[in-house]
Amino acid sequence: MTEPIGETARVFRFAPSPNGFLHLGHAFSALFNRKLARACGGTLLLRIEDIDPVRTRRIYEAALIEDLDWLGLIWSGTPRRQSEHMADYRGALEGLARRGLVYPCFCSRGDIAKNCGGGQDWPRDPDGAFLYPGTCRELTSAQQKTRIEAGARASWRLDMAKALGEIGGPLSYREFHEGDAARIVTAEPSAWGDALIGRRDAPASYHLACVLDDHAQGVTDVVRGADLEPATGLHRLLQALFGLGAPSYHHHRLVLDDEGRKLSKSKSSPSLRDLRRQGRSAADLRAELSRRMQVEL
Ligand code: GLU
Repeated sequence: MTEPIGETARVFRFAPSPNGFLHLGHAFSALFNRKLARACGGTLLLRIEDIDPVRTRRIYEAALIEDLDWLGLIWSGTPRRQSEHMADYRGALEGLARRGLVYPCFCSRGDIAKNCGGGQDWPRDPDGAFLYPGTCRELTSAQQKTRIEAGARASWRLDMAKALGEIGGPLSYREFHEGDAARIVTAEPSAWGDALIGRRDAPASYHLACVLDDHAQGVTDVVRGADLEPATGLHRLLQALFGLGAPSYHHHRLVLDDEGRKLSKSKSSPSLRDLRRQGRSAADLRAELSRRMQVEL
């Protein structure tokens, strides 16, 4: 007799960065994660993406927890703070270094711009940065050592050609949309060139920490904004290099301002706390987001 196959419990996560106050776009993403998790009896986790020592502030972390609580979100387990897992990221990065898949890069932004011939026609990555011209890829270990001994601090770049060679064929992931059949999407990691996966001041970039944490937290469904869709190709490559399975992805539409621009912490879109101070209730914001995004939250 065959055993019935049980549905695996699905795990969703919301993963804000504490580098500013949350705005309506974050509220939508968090509430939409909750909606999709509820619809399948899944769990919803919170992850604090605080590896950036320059922009991260504890006050923003406290504020985002308070704002999400105000919105009525309840998380399974304790939130995971990335800054508490640096040793794991370092271990993973060193593993890639031993396999010759990453190399230290000593270039400043200015160096890169210079080495891109001023940059006018130089190709850019999906974030709009110049594709890395490969300057440090050819340094010998003696040259690397000399720079480190002279006090230079390196970031770490993935050798894209080697990484793709190691995988040896196309990668894909599953993109699901409520009510529609899932699509299989071909990952396009090469759009990132030799992507930065270890920061100068932390042993991971967003990409590396995100992939390792989605795995560590047992995430089965990544629901995030369409602005992060290009990053998924790179994430899929990192998963394959580490021998990790891929979650399913859903990249949702972004909440736009009245001029059709993406909301942003830095362009001072009204924060959830501004709206709260203006007397808006959580139920009121949820109803407004449901209306604007045409999805019942
Ligand atoms: N921390 C990222 C942000 O706030 C989100 C990362 C993700 O959902 O993968 O934009």
